[in-house]
Amino acid sequence: MAEIVIDGLGKVYTDGTRAVNDLSLDIQDGEFLVLVGPSGCGKTTALRMIAGLEGISEGTIRIGDRVVNDVPARDRDVAMVFQSYALYPHLNIFENIAFGLRLRKLPKDEIEERVREVARILELEEHLQRKPGNLSGGQRQRVAMGRAIVRRPRAFLMDEPLSNLDAKLRVQMRAQIARIQRDLGVTTVYVTHDQTEAMTLGDRVAVMKRGVLQQVGPPQELYDHPRNLFVAGFVGSPGMNLLTASLTDNDGRYRLHLGEQTLDLPDGLLHRRPALRGYAGAEVVLGIRPEDMEDAEIVGSTEGATLTSVADLVEAMGSDVLVHFPLGADPVVTEDTRELARDAGADDALSAAAEGVVLVGRFSPRTHVFEGQDITVAVDTERLHFFDPATGTAIR
Ligand code: ATP
Repeated sequence: MAEIVIDGLGKVYTDGTRAVNDLSLDIQDGEFLVLVGPSGCGKTTALRMIAGLEGISEGTIRIGDRVVNDVPARDRDVAMVFQSYALYPHLNIFENIAFGLRLRKLPKDEIEERVREVARILELEEHLQRKPGNLSGGQRQRVAMGRAIVRRPRAFLMDEPLSNLDAKLRVQMRAQIARIQRDLGVTTVYVTHDQTEAMTLGDRVAVMKRGVLQQVGPPQELYDHPRNLFVAGFVGSPGMNLLTASLTDNDGRYRLHLGEQTLDLPDGLLHRRPALRGYAGAEVVLGIRPEDMEDAEIVGSTEGATLTSVADLVEAMGSDVLVHFPLGADPVVTEDTRELARDAGADDALSAAAEGVVLVGRFSPRTHVFEGQDITVAVDTERLHFFDPATGTAIR
């Protein structure tokens, strides 16, 4: 087992594409680190450089006490798990798992013992004589994991290992990967574009955009304190509502103006975000998470911080109800929000938003809101997020 220290890592492909730019990460021994970001952000390239499958243009990678820049993949003592599983179709499951050990010419008895142990951990014992073609997707995925585990490497490198599974199996395997990694305590770098997977699996999550690391931290920290608009929009589902608001200082009482409506800010919030005072008289980008809004009827009060609107769309999810409602305030359109919308396939939403912004609130399932109804929405103003409109960075 080992820590992985990445310093100033960069990759420029031969055609001039810069895939990774000045990436530095300190991955602790035994840590589960998730690299996440939209398609093309460079996460796979970064992982392949750690694995030794891709040359390094700039910077260094250290695994344990050894700089591995010039060490070939097979000598790095890391095990890669691919999205495609990369199993040998003509070999049975036992031989697929044993393959790496046979290459290393381990004694027969030891191979037998190690394969059986891994098969037990992964509940593959009954399938050892079968060929990969006769297994389900989930079982094949476990064989791919088995091949990595049996080698007892210093690190696991996983590239979207769950993306070929259906949604239900993905959730099951996610829990299994988390458990195995915890039990074995092997340093793991895991690549995904799925923020839910990233948040549930990672001890820490590193969010990348266009080759550049945006923020790295424990999942809760990214959720509570996103450093910029991109991370704010990427983490959380549905994403954070972002809109333009102006801030006024009325003799020490700070107030947000969202179109015709206002929200008074609690004093505590301004103590925690002192830089916000500097924006009095100016515009800010306001972020409100769907879960920080509730049907005022459920809260039992229409006093305090509320917004009024008409429910545009009501989606009952069972555990909660997503209520979409328009607000006569300006949507935020920046390079980051455009990229996030593109990634979510919601380009149209952005052009439609020119008439005002549509917010999404995550209400309690006890709400009786129906489409077309006038609603009053209670906003937890202690939990609002603020960003500089010019730079997109969080105002703290
Ligand atoms: P995805 O989730 O779609 O796999 P990713 O975040 O893993 O995306 P990479 O595969 O690392 O991203 O690609 C990063 C950038 O490098 C992209 O712009 C991609 O087109 C480019 N790229 C990847 N491989 C090569 C290559 N062999 N030659 C040139 N450019 C490449």
